[in-house]
Amino acid sequence: MSDGVGSGQIGLCPHQGCGFACCSFQQGNYIVTYPGELAAARAAGQGLGHLEVVDAGYHGGERVVCHAADCSNCDGGYKPLDCASYPFFPTLQDGRVTTLIKGRKCPLPEHRLGGHRAWVLDNWNALLAGRRDVADWMAQVELVGYAPSRSDDAPPAADMAGTVNPRLVAVCGIDGAGKTTLIRTLGEDPLLGDWHRLQKRDRSNVRTVEAQKNGLASADIAASPFGALHRLSHGFDFLTFYEEEYLPAKTTGGWIISDRWSLCTVAYGNAGFALADDLRFLTGTLDEPGLTLFLDIEPQAAVDRVQRRGAPQADERLDILEQFAAGYRSCPPPAGKMVRLSAGSPEGVFAEAKAAILEHVRSVEGSLHERRARRQQS
Ligand code: SF4
Ligand code: SF4
Repeated sequence: MSDGVGSGQIGLCPHQGCGFACCSFQQGNYIVTYPGELAAARAAGQGLGHLEVVDAGYHGGERVVCHAADCSNCDGGYKPLDCASYPFFPTLQDGRVTTLIKGRKCPLPEHRLGGHRAWVLDNWNALLAGRRDVADWMAQVELVGYAPSRSDDAPPAADMAGTVNPRLVAVCGIDGAGKTTLIRTLGEDPLLGDWHRLQKRDRSNVRTVEAQKNGLASADIAASPFGALHRLSHGFDFLTFYEEEYLPAKTTGGWIISDRWSLCTVAYGNAGFALADDLRFLTGTLDEPGLTLFLDIEPQAAVDRVQRRGAPQADERLDILEQFAAGYRSCPPPAGKMVRLSAGSPEGVFAEAKAAILEHVRSVEGSLHERRARRQQS
């Protein structure tokens, strides 16, 4: 498992044997609350009985220690954003949070915390918007027991990197973004006349999981115990697709366009479950597209499209598509080139896609041609 759901919960915590070390205040450490945070929680009726304010004038916010008896749920009361962000805390640069520090007490390695890191960055940056007082507070806060956040405990890049196939173009984006429509329209264009066109179908590879999902009908898959398993099963579906459809097409040496790629599977794994790291391990050494066309559409517009199409699936809902979109945002950029398609109309998207493909084909064929010519000269 990876780092858990958004909202600051880390699914791995109960399995670390750390005894919720981050909730222990025996080493002179404390929680910091930003200006107005506790007042807002109180006004919202949240319980604050477990929190003892030890410094009420701390750069406009407070310093607090916690006496909760049940650290798994903060005694049913308010969980400060500092706690929800742990083991990370934001650092300010030019008015935005782009880097984090990491608490030394936490045994979790950073490469298992990719989804949580994205959640922390998103939430502190959202809070900072228009809040000069929070920026001033953040610039002055001093914390005990933190070190600069390192990315060097991530698995070596060489272990994770797939090979880029320059002749592979993938179309990615959330459900309802128009991937299938775009592939179909491109397929009718002479430009793609002899290309292999691959469709990533749901293969129900893990049939038990699919049966359980289907049994839920329109119930909330994301909230069901099978939700995480369902997302992981997408990774195995992708492996089957890769072996059965992609590899035979690749051996022909021709150009390939694929409706979805592993990026979609990884991003979907982060939709509510933060399984991106696990799915990246599963698919990270496979070929990557030379060109990824990313359909950059707002989740609400995708929901509207899905509803116009009819028969929406249970997980084609606004909240899940918003999580899916956030999953894409938290993915590192693909190794190949990525072009975002954001034109409003299908015609505009088609024109952008065709131009990007043309440019990519020219650059690949040109460089192959040049390589061949150099080989012949030598
Ligand atoms: S508020 Fe909750 S998360 Fe924070 S120290 Fe207390 S029990 Fe732990
Ligand atoms: S110390 Fe780390 S692993 Fe342990 S409960 Fe806190 S965040 Fe989770």
